[in-house]
Amino acid sequence: MAPPPPTPSSSSRGSGVRSASRRGRVRRRCQWLLYWVPVVFICCILCWSYYAYVVQLCLLTMKNIGEKVVCLIAYHLFFAMFLWSYWKTIFTLPVHPSKEFLLTYADKELLEREPRGEVHQEVLKRAAKELPIYTRTMSGAIRYCDRCQLIKPDRCHHCSACDKCILKMDHHCPWVNNCVGFSNYKFFLLFLAYSLLYCLFIAATDLQYFIKFWTNGLSDTQAKFHIMFLFFAAAMFSISLSSLFGYHCWLVSKNKSTLEAFRAPIFRHGTDKNGFSLGFSKNLRQVFGDEKIYWLLPVFTSQGDGCSFPTCLVTQDLEQASTPSGLISSNKNENHHFPAKPLRDSQSHLLTDTHSWTETNASIEKNKLGMSNPALTMENET
Ligand SMILES: [Zn+2]
Ligand SMILES: [Zn+2]
Repeated sequence: MAPPPPTPSSSSRGSGVRSASRRGRVRRRCQWLLYWVPVVFICCILCWSYYAYVVQLCLLTMKNIGEKVVCLIAYHLFFAMFLWSYWKTIFTLPVHPSKEFLLTYADKELLEREPRGEVHQEVLKRAAKELPIYTRTMSGAIRYCDRCQLIKPDRCHHCSACDKCILKMDHHCPWVNNCVGFSNYKFFLLFLAYSLLYCLFIAATDLQYFIKFWTNGLSDTQAKFHIMFLFFAAAMFSISLSSLFGYHCWLVSKNKSTLEAFRAPIFRHGTDKNGFSLGFSKNLRQVFGDEKIYWLLPVFTSQGDGCSFPTCLVTQDLEQASTPSGLISSNKNENHHFPAKPLRDSQSHLLTDTHSWTETNASIEKNKLGMSNPALTMENET
């Protein structure tokens, strides 16, 4: 039997839905274009700086051949490293939590059915039993993302711009139109370093011609204005980049993300702003890796898997201390091994470590901060 023709009310409802979805698509496309504006702006500045430095300064203004050759070679080296690290920061996709952190369909249904409270926490605690989760919400509950429906690994946060949970999220950077996190933090640092070097190099080599501009030592050509603006732009960017780069060097030395610098991570025993710090040298290796020859190249060498991190809090955490050192418990998932506990620096090679994490005394868990209060069991983090 043929279906009945649509009634006027249902067809108008249908067209209303269609136009709303079209409006949504247009809005998303406009947003997408808008997000690329800062990147296009940087690319335009970069193209102009190339023309101003290479053509106007080196080829048309510099008279000394030796100076010309040295400046051109050094400039292209900085330019290439800057572009390479910038490209990698923009186009390296942020990593999301692995499937082990996703709730099962049954657990999701249970969470949706039940009002928030003790039952929710019981479900999450059971799901997190085999996972290397050591940080908690402010109320002491398991960190859970309602939006992605997963248990958040340590140092993972939900990015509202990407609408996804990002491993070891640092911040969402509009200048690279990407989330800076576990997968591209090294690239981001190198991008800051090489862009700073690029600007400092331009400012230093342009300085004498900039002085000549003010003392009328330059002939009246178009190059004059390029040389002047090139110096101003390079000096201005150098100042802002050096403060940003200095801040991120400090973060790396303390093994903190920008988000953690603003809000210290909360462990089972409480807040600890240096909870992930392993000492300067090992903190550096967490981001740059063990092999120093790759430190200055934008290739991925960071340690770990982004889901679990070594900490120095083993003795301070009662629950962790109750696990005998070196105890191995095999994980149900054979493809993904988690460390037996937050590792001390001597055990920090997470990817090569085959120890598995284990939950221990449940009675200790109940005594932890806020866990007995069902009203404080969940927290939305952004
Ligand atoms: Zn999320
Ligand atoms: Zn993001």
